[in-house]
Amino acid sequence: MLDCAIIGGGPAGLTAGLYTTRGGLANVTMFEKGMPGGQITQSSEIENYPGVTGEITGMDLMMPWPEQCQRFGLKHEMVEVKRVSQKEDGTFVILKENGETEEALSVIVGTGSTPRRAGFKGEDLFFGKGVSTCATCDGFFYKGKEVAVVGGGDTALEEALYLAKLCSRVYLIHRRDRFRASPNTIERVKKTENIELIVNACVDEVVGDAMGVTGVHMIINDGTLRQLDVPGIFVFVGNDVNNQVLMQEDGTFLCDMTESGEVIVDISMRTSVPGLYAVGDMRIAAPKQVVSAAGDGAVAALQAIAFVDEKLN
Ligand code: FAD
Ligand code: NAP
Repeated sequence: MLDCAIIGGGPAGLTAGLYTTRGGLANVTMFEKGMPGGQITQSSEIENYPGVTGEITGMDLMMPWPEQCQRFGLKHEMVEVKRVSQKEDGTFVILKENGETEEALSVIVGTGSTPRRAGFKGEDLFFGKGVSTCATCDGFFYKGKEVAVVGGGDTALEEALYLAKLCSRVYLIHRRDRFRASPNTIERVKKTENIELIVNACVDEVVGDAMGVTGVHMIINDGTLRQLDVPGIFVFVGNDVNNQVLMQEDGTFLCDMTESGEVIVDISMRTSVPGLYAVGDMRIAAPKQVVSAAGDGAVAALQAIAFVDEKLN
């Protein structure tokens, strides 16, 4: 029986691993389906993690984290978790992709989220090299330059406003002429002089060279073509929370969720199920930053330690 099972080895899961083991839990395993590090390892540069002053990649940042955890006894199993469920006595059951199960007194889930891709040509090729899904992270690289933003929801319009403060011009490309964003946000965007709306337009292709993106090719709904020479394109076409592990055989979720699939937690990262915590990008109102994901992991770990102590004593 594990004291704690951690699902996901991104910044949230790894920090939970560090704090649970260093805080005294003897038997903790982190289940990560790929290499530990999470989605930040796709980023070509990170400069908003506290204490980082040099030019480093997301991979550089995350490289030492697993070793640090292992020094305190965190076990790591490279396997995809299919489901977390609970027995009548409160014990959690971790079902792995190979059909094996593991039991745990507490569980911290940090399986992250996946920004949706819009599906245009060159999007995958230039992801992290001019194509971005994070304005807070990458906007600064385009200070004083022109950028394009794709999407018509709250995220796209809010991020366009954020980018308009840094960039000389922001082209907001939306496939329709009506926006999903709130009326107030639409109004603010329309009043912002350096945001140009390009509506009824779909990005067909992002082009570039070895250095990264150099331009965007669009098809307007009337059939005309338009090209923008921009070094950066931000795609905000929705986000999928990786919540599948919490889905039970009958299609319900193990704990309370929002309508859009985020896990509802309190400020201690406690879900509606005692002993089950959710951290990082997958939880409600997540800032979707490495620093906050790591903070969540620490908060949840301290809670899990207290929960397990109470169970065992
Ligand atoms: P994730 O990092 O998504 O980690 C979740 C982990 O869970 C993954 O490793 C995944 O493989 C694993 N997993 C998922 N499902 C399962 C399963 N069923 N079984 C086992 N393992 C599973 N943030 C910043 O603060 N600054 C930046 O500059 C920045 N730049 C970014 C650039 C890019 C290109 C991207 C994509 C994101 C960027 N972010 C940045 C955001 C940041 O990466 C995320 O907020 C952060 O990684 C979230 O951490 P997490 O641990 O919650 O989830
Ligand atoms: P969203 O509301 O689902 O909007 C996604 C946008 O991307 C839509 O405009 C959609 O176009 C467009 N889109 C989807 N797929 C596309 C594709 N393949 N190519 C081009 N465009 C595509 O997503 P979101 O903006 O991330 O917001 C998610 C939720 O969070 C929403 O409920 C939102 O209100 C909420 N949110 C709230 C706030 C806030 O309250 N301040 C801030 C951010 C987000 P169509 O419109 O044509 O479908």
